[in-house]
Amino acid sequence: MPHYPDMTTYAYATSDQEMLNVGWLAPDCAYRTGIVDDRVIDALKALSSAYDNQTRGVHDCEFCSTERPVILGGPAYDTQVWLGSAEIRAQDAAGTVYSAPNLVIHYITEHRYCPPVEFCRAVVRTAGMDTTNELTLAD
Ligand SMILES: [Zn+2]
Repeated sequence: MPHYPDMTTYAYATSDQEMLNVGWLAPDCAYRTGIVDDRVIDALKALSSAYDNQTRGVHDCEFCSTERPVILGGPAYDTQVWLGSAEIRAQDAAGTVYSAPNLVIHYITEHRYCPPVEFCRAVVRTAGMDTTNELTLAD
C-alpha cells in the first residue's frame, strides 16, 4: 500500500472530490501514537460498511502478520467488514473530506496509531454521533 503523510492531498485514486489523506501508514515512516477516544473507533466501524473506493487487491497490514483483519461494523455493528481493500471517508463541518484506508481501524486498535484530531472529529460527525463532549486523544 502506498504511504502518504497525514493531511496531504489525496492522490491514490482519481476523484472529483478534493480530499486529505489520513492513516496511509508504512513501516519505515514514523506515525503518531496515542490513546484514541472510543467514539472515534465506533464511528469508523459504523462508516466502514460503506466500502468506499473498494479495490480488487487486498493490502495486508505491514506492521504484523494478521491476514485480512475483520471487524464488526455498519450502523448496528453487526456487519462483517474485511479491512485492507477499501477506504473510509468522512467530512468535517467546514466541508473538508478525509480519506483513510479502512485498515486505519486496525492501526488504531492494534498499533496505537493516533490520527489527527480534525479527522477524528470528522468521522464522529459523519457517523452522526454526539460531539458535544470533546474527544479524548492523548499521547
Ligand atoms: Zn497489524
